[in-house]
Amino acid sequence: MVAALAVFTVVLDAGHGGSNLGAAGVEAHVHEKHLTLAVTRLVETRLRARGVKVLLTRRSDTLLTLRERVRRANAWAPDLFVSLHFNASPDRSQRGTEAYVLDPAGAALEVHRAGARAADGKTGADAEAAKVQAEHAQDHARALAWEVARGIQRRVCGSLAEASGVPRASLDRGIRAGALDVLRGASVPAVLAELAFIDHPVEGREILRPKVQADLAEAVAQAIAEASEKAPRAGALDRDPGDAQVKPRIPKGAR
Ligand SMILES: [Zn+2]
Repeated sequence: MVAALAVFTVVLDAGHGGSNLGAAGVEAHVHEKHLTLAVTRLVETRLRARGVKVLLTRRSDTLLTLRERVRRANAWAPDLFVSLHFNASPDRSQRGTEAYVLDPAGAALEVHRAGARAADGKTGADAEAAKVQAEHAQDHARALAWEVARGIQRRVCGSLAEASGVPRASLDRGIRAGALDVLRGASVPAVLAELAFIDHPVEGREILRPKVQADLAEAVAQAIAEASEKAPRAGALDRDPGDAQVKPRIPKGAR
C-alpha cells in the first residue's frame, strides 16, 4: 500500500525570532531565539541524514506569531510538529529539560473539530464513521507525541548530564500535558521541548558550546527518528481504514 512508502515528515519550529527575543541568556548578546535557531538547524541536518523529510517554520531571524507557526505546520500536514525552546527561571536556579504535549482537554477539542470537519456534508452512519476515524487518528497522534517527548527527555537529559557531570535524573523535569498556545490548534502530533535553562549560571554557559549544541541536536534527532520508525504515516488512516483495530498504547499522565 502507498502508506508504507511515505516518508516521515516533521516540521521543526525554532522558538521566538526577530523582535521576539525569548529568554535572555547568561551572556548579554545571546537570547533564546539564537539558540533555538542554531539547534533546530542542526536537528534538521541530522534528521535529513536519516532520511526524514524536514520543514522549518523559520530558517532565519524572523518574527513569527504562534498562530502563523501552527498554521504553517497544519498546512504542510506533517507526521509531527516539534517546537524547540530554552527555559528560564526567575532566580536563575533551575536547570534541566522538560517537554510538553497537548493536554487531554486541548486534544479533545481538536478531536471535536476534526470530527466536525470530517463529518461535514455527511449524514447518518457516514458522519458517525468519519467522527470515529477522526478520534482514532487523534489516539495515534497522542501516542506519537508522548513517544517523542519521552525520547527527548531521555536523550537530551543524557546529553546534558554528560556535558555537566550532573546526574541525569536530576535534570529530568518530566513531561507535562499543557495547553500551550503554540501546541493548541495543531492538527498533527505536537511536542514542545524546553531543552535546557539558558539563564542558569553553569548550564547557560554549557549550551553556548558548539559541541554541546551538536549533542543536544543529535539527542532530539534520535528521539524523533526512533519514534518515526514506530509511527504510522500521516494520511495512512484515511487511505486504509482496515487497520483501525490496531490501537496504540497511550501512556497515562505525566511522570
Ligand atoms: Zn521560548
